[in-house]
Amino acid sequence: MTIDQKAAQELASRAHEVGRVSGRNGWLDLLQRVSRGRFGRQRGWTRVPKLDTPWQDTLSGERQGWRERAANLNGEFAFSVDYQVCPDCQLGWVEQPYTLPEYQRCGLASAGLAALRIEHPGLSWHTLGGHLRDSKGFWEAVGAGVPGGYQQRSPCAHITAG
Ligand SMILES: [Zn+2]
Repeated sequence: MTIDQKAAQELASRAHEVGRVSGRNGWLDLLQRVSRGRFGRQRGWTRVPKLDTPWQDTLSGERQGWRERAANLNGEFAFSVDYQVCPDCQLGWVEQPYTLPEYQRCGLASAGLAALRIEHPGLSWHTLGGHLRDSKGFWEAVGAGVPGGYQQRSPCAHITAG
């Protein structure tokens, strides 16, 4: 195991240490509005500055109305996932979890998803899209014992698909 992978494991164990940016009425929102979503939706454009916390929670750069949970390591996002919850329906969705290749199998994804479940107890968890065949094992592993099991489900009437 490399030093970076050890650091990633350590980071996974600190998934409850989350810095937050509400993002409401920030310049990124404004940029999305004045450009009718054109610029704000390009990956990279809406990246809010990285926080000094191990993990961070910000507006999603890709999906309007969604949030992004990410883990900071060596100045980049070692892991990130978009998510959305509906308290009315007791449902949560996660979409496009991504771990940088050098940090895979260090527990970042499962720790990040677990932190979201702890912060939003009682929800059933789903994904919007179908799972690619090569990620089936991943979803089976992280979805074991989880209500909803991260099975595909269309968004409820209260949220958008982004
Ligand atoms: Zn709902």
